[in-house]
Amino acid sequence: MPSKLPQNEILNIFRETGALLEGHFQLTSGLHSPQYFQCARVLQFPKYLHLFAGELARHFEYNEIELVISPAIGGIVVGTEVGRLLGVRTIFAERRDGIMEIRRGFEIRPGERVLVVEDVVTTGGSVHEVIDLVRGAKAILGGVGYIVDRSNGMLTFDARHYSVLQLNAVTFKPEECPLCGKGLPVTKPGSRGNY
Ligand SMILES: [Zn+2]
Repeated sequence: MPSKLPQNEILNIFRETGALLEGHFQLTSGLHSPQYFQCARVLQFPKYLHLFAGELARHFEYNEIELVISPAIGGIVVGTEVGRLLGVRTIFAERRDGIMEIRRGFEIRPGERVLVVEDVVTTGGSVHEVIDLVRGAKAILGGVGYIVDRSNGMLTFDARHYSVLQLNAVTFKPEECPLCGKGLPVTKPGSRGNY
């Protein structure tokens, strides 16, 4: 279901804040892309964090959510803001030795309605692992909300789900990259965690 905010306005916000760069990039995967995307850059600005978290909170406000949980690290900022807007407990799950778990004395209580919140979803792996924690605690999955859907339409969740922006990932193998074919120089963004 599309956001009420016009997608081109959202894209402009991502461009203005440097969350979305356009050019010719080598991602950490080694693949080439005409885009480099780093969602955290847009969320450093309170007004945009509020805008996008507000979209998610509004979408789920009548779902009787009692707990918000996010996968660390990317989801924590937006999860915390969505939880604040909904006025509910907000926790996060984190990976230890590759396993997603709940630490720090956080708990998911049996029967409570839980909203899973993430910043960017590509394969959905982290979100699915958090959903497994929710189900394992015998809580109810009330929904899944994320700011950006990078799954190119491949993603499904067994619950009500909502993204503010759909931004399909475009990647090429270096040997098949049309930008390389045009002789354009390639940039390696310094950060880990390319989406
Ligand atoms: Zn290339």
